[in-house]
Amino acid sequence: MENKKVSAASKDFGGEDKVKKSRRPMKKKVCEFCEKGIAEIDYKDVSRLRRYVTEKGKIISARTSGCCARHQRQLTVAIKRARMVALLPFKGE
Ligand SMILES: [Zn+2]
Repeated sequence: MENKKVSAASKDFGGEDKVKKSRRPMKKKVCEFCEKGIAEIDYKDVSRLRRYVTEKGKIISARTSGCCARHQRQLTVAIKRARMVALLPFKGE
């Protein structure tokens, strides 16, 4: 009986450890465009836009990219324009 209790207690501790590990500290991201003082994002600036697009061609979310709301909105428009003039792919590569 006592052995069972001990094993149950150790299992509980293991669970707690897992919960703590999953909570990783958030690295604070700063909007790249704000930092560099870029007011308007240019759709012809492909090298910069490419960093905000996955290899499948999807636009990276503001949550992941760290962009502020204003620049993320501009960024999506710029990426969509770049797609229209075939500077960026619509899908995959
Ligand atoms: Zn910004």
